[in-house]
Formats: sequence, C-alpha cells, structure tokens
Amino acid sequence: MSAQNPTPSGGPVVDGPHDPEHDPRASYALEPDYTAALTARLVATSGRSAEARSPLDDAPLAHIPQSTADDVAEAYARARRAQVAWARTSLDHRSAVLLRLHDLILDRQDEVIDLIQLESGKARKHAFDEPLHVALTARYYARTAHQHLDTRRKIGVVPGLTRVELNRIPKGVVGIISPWNYPFTMALCDGLPALLAGNAVVAKPDHQTMLSALLAAQLLEEAGFPKDLWQVVAGPGTQIGPEMIQRSDYICFTGSTATGRIIAKGCAERLIGCSLELGGKNPLLVLRDADLERAAEGAVRASFSNAGQLCVSMERLFVADQVYDRFVERFVARTESMTLGATMEWGNDMGTLISQQQLDTVTAHVEDAVAKGARVLAGGNARPDLGPYFYEPTILEGVDPEMTCFGTETFGPVVSLYRFHDEADAIARANAGQYGLNASIYSRDGDRARSIARQIKCGTVNINEAFAATFASLDAPMGGMRESGMGRRQGAEGILRYTETQSVATQRLLRFAPQFGMSDEGYAKVMTANLRLMKKLGRP
Ligand code: NAD
Repeated sequence: MSAQNPTPSGGPVVDGPHDPEHDPRASYALEPDYTAALTARLVATSGRSAEARSPLDDAPLAHIPQSTADDVAEAYARARRAQVAWARTSLDHRSAVLLRLHDLILDRQDEVIDLIQLESGKARKHAFDEPLHVALTARYYARTAHQHLDTRRKIGVVPGLTRVELNRIPKGVVGIISPWNYPFTMALCDGLPALLAGNAVVAKPDHQTMLSALLAAQLLEEAGFPKDLWQVVAGPGTQIGPEMIQRSDYICFTGSTATGRIIAKGCAERLIGCSLELGGKNPLLVLRDADLERAAEGAVRASFSNAGQLCVSMERLFVADQVYDRFVERFVARTESMTLGATMEWGNDMGTLISQQQLDTVTAHVEDAVAKGARVLAGGNARPDLGPYFYEPTILEGVDPEMTCFGTETFGPVVSLYRFHDEADAIARANAGQYGLNASIYSRDGDRARSIARQIKCGTVNINEAFAATFASLDAPMGGMRESGMGRRQGAEGILRYTETQSVATQRLLRFAPQFGMSDEGYAKVMTANLRLMKKLGRP
C-alpha cells in the first residue's frame, strides 16, 4: 500500500511501519500532530494514557489521555455554563448550525471514513454509512426543529377563558455513553437532537474508538457549535459511567443489555431519565412468495454489514419450506463470493472484527455450535492471513437451543438458518427470547408482510430490506422492545426525550372558586351543570 493522502486537508493517514517482503498486508499510521490535535479536546489530566491500536494491522494509532473523576466534574461544569447561553439562542440559529454540520461532514467524509476504518477495521463502504447517517440526522432535525420544539397551544379547561401553552424546556446536560461499532454516528447522532433542543452534552465514547468521536467533536465546533457545549471524557465505562450519571440531567446509552441494566439502576437512583439502545438477536423471515434474489442479497447485507457488529443485523434467518433450498443456494453463493480485506480501499464487502475479544466470542459461538452438531454452509474460519481479528462470514444450519448462538447475541458475522412450515410458527419462533430490536420480512405481498410485522415484537421491522429502510427513515422512531431497550432515537421521540414539558395556563375573567357571593354548594351545582353541557357539546 502506498502512502495515502486522501483528505482535502492534507490527510491524517500516512504509511505505517511496514516490511512488504515479509508481510504483504497493508499497514497504516496517523500523523502524530493530527492525533495530538484531536486528543487535546479531551478533559483528561490524569497523566495516564491508553494506547489505541488499529485492528487492521494491530499497529499503534495514538495514546489517549485518560480522565479522572475530577475531569468528569470539570467537563460537566464547562458544559453547564455553555448550556445556559446556548439555550437562549434561537431555534433557527441552532438549525442553521446543524445544516452547516451536514455540509461539513459531507465535504470531509474522506477524513471521517479514514479514521473510522483505522479504528474499527470495517470495510470502507460500511464506514461511509456513518457520515451518511449523521448528515441525514442533521438535516432531518434541522428541518423539523419547529415541528418538535415550538410552543404549542393545548385545550384549556374553560373554552375561550383558559389559554394553555406547552413549552419544551431543555433538560440541561445530557450524558452520552456510546459503543465502538459505529464510532462516529453512535457518538454524534444521538447528541444532535440534544443540542438542537438547547442542551449541552458530555460524551464518553468507547475506549477503542476515541479518535472518531473526537473528530466528531471537532467538526461540531467547526460547524459553529460553541466549543464547551460538547465535552468528551475518556476512560473505562465502569469508572467514568457512574461519575457521569451523578452529574447528568439525562443519560443516553447505547451498548449491551448487561450494561444497560447498570445504567438504568443508576439513573433510577437519581430519578433522571435515560434511553437505552441495547442488544438484539434479530430475525429475518423469507416468506414463500419472496423474490429470492432480492432476499439473498438483503440477507447478506443484513447478516454481514460491519462484519455483523451491528445492533440491527440479522443472526436468525427463518425461511419458508417451499423456497428453503432455492434461497439457501443463492444466499450461500453470494456469501462465498464476498470480497474480504482488512484494507482501506473501496471494494471490500467485509472488513475485520474490531478486537481479540470479538474474535474469541465469534470463534467460541461457531465452535460450540459445530461441536453440538451444527453444519457450516459457508465460512467458519478465522483468517489471520487477512488481519489479526478477521473471521469469515459464516452460515450455520441445524442450530438448536442447546447451542450458545441459538439465543445469545454473537455480534459478529455468524447467522443461523431455520426452516419453517407455517407463518404462525415462524412468527412465534422469531418472537422467542428476550430481545426485540429489529426484524426483516421478505415477501411480494406487502399487505401480508405488514400484517405479520404487527405480530413481531420488535421496535423496527423492514419489509424487503435488511435494516436501512427504518434506520435511515429519521422521522420514524428506532429502538428496542423488551430487553433491547427503553426509549427511542429518531423522530419526535428522539428529540423530545431531551426536553421537559412545561404547561403554562393563563386564566381570564373566571376564577376556579365561587364568585359574586355564590355559596360553595351553588358553585358545585353550576360546575356540575357545566360538566354535563361540555360533554353534550362534544368537548374532550
Ligand atoms: P458495552 O455495554 O460493553 O459498552 C458500551 C459503552 O458502555 C462503552 O462506552 C463502555 O465503555 C460503556 N460502559 C461499560 N460499562 C459501563 C458501566 N458500568 N457504566 C457506564 N458505562 C459503561 O457494549 P459493547 O459490547 O461495547 O457494544 C456492543 C453492544 O452494544 C451489543 O450488544 C450491541 O447490540 C449493542 N448496540 C446496540 C445498539 C442499538 O442501537 N440498540 C447500537 C450499537 C450497539
């Protein structure tokens, strides 16, 4: 790989230490000045740092300074000061800044994608999904700001005399704790509606992907958000998380169900709200009338996008008996023809897993299934020849409840195939287990598919598409039922969660007490007559 210089600004990526004679794989490094400028944004005075390495080649990327409890307190103090001034700005001003961010992210997408790839090891086309999703989010909320946040009239108790208005008051400082799998979009997209609603944010990204999140913070400032409005802290979630909960007015968490429970308990203790976007074991249904080419293409994206490290990706495929063999033939052929590579060029269909821990989990799930009798139809092997944490896209058949991957989220490129005879059975099996994040249905009959969707216990259901149709339809809420989460991102729910409602009622003329010498009993009679009249008039 020759030196890359892909960014308009000169580019952060340079050749890594590399001996092509002994190792033909690419190797990458970052300009030290570039990483220093990013990490300077952290509130981190401990003097300690954590080394970040790229999963592409295991080469060192940067040293990330670590935050102390005092640093977290300082980040909240700065954010709180900035929030007061920010909440006084007009909604039009905030929307305009969001639209500038939209343009900036599209203009600087090469730099963003480079950094995402270096930190996460995902294929370039999957890294592109991140600036794409953030730009969509910025535009959607900028253009719908008034719809969500304007003061609204509500029905007053006495028509004409009681004027009621509903205000949306920002919560204050929102803590955002995010995972590594979509480091740029997960760090940023939940925060944009928080800022638009007049809040400040303190973000704690995952330790494996701090640089992408720090670039996000830099782009926010370049777009015109006040510098202190978005703070970033670094360190282990178990240490930094509780410090954040103690100081936040609301917590937005994305990550595993196990950590989500800990966050929910902490927020309950402080009586603050939280939204939790958690894990899944998502089902995809191929009905007997499905377009099989389309279903097979969708199943590949559904199962192997970002090497399966995607909360909404599919790990269980239920296929109608009548089309099972024909679907499987197409799905296996498409999977086997995928281009794999831990490089930064366009053209790869799948990149690497992010870490040894991810590789261990994926390997363990497949080995356990095979040892208990599952058959491997495609993949099934680690690929150290491609990268240290590389694993092939893998299709399993004959998975049963004794096997770990039957009901436990793998969060990797492993999918199990199940045959079904009737749709009621498929729906029941899709609904089994504790999760309820995302589902997908392939059928030529839209009405039937939508009717089945209503019976699936998932927060989003995509028909004739893997996951992007709901994920990118920003006006519709996205999130999990059951143990896949609480609350929703996107749409009205995605922004209103960051506000308190305030009802203001202005009363004219009439008082809610006896007037003009009326007795209490007389007042009660007049009010009773009024109630009957209002009902007759059809008032709500
Ligand atoms: P994780 O829960 O281990 O970590 C997520 C974040 O929480 C990280 O920033 C981590 O540092 C922090 N954290 C860990 N322990 C904490 C604690 N005690 N207090 C506060 N913060 C803490 O999750 P992960 O394994 O890194 O991420 C993968 C999981 O995230 C999968 O289960 C996946 O399905 C889920 N996920 C869900 C969505 C969604 O939108 N529903 C999106 C992406 C990932």
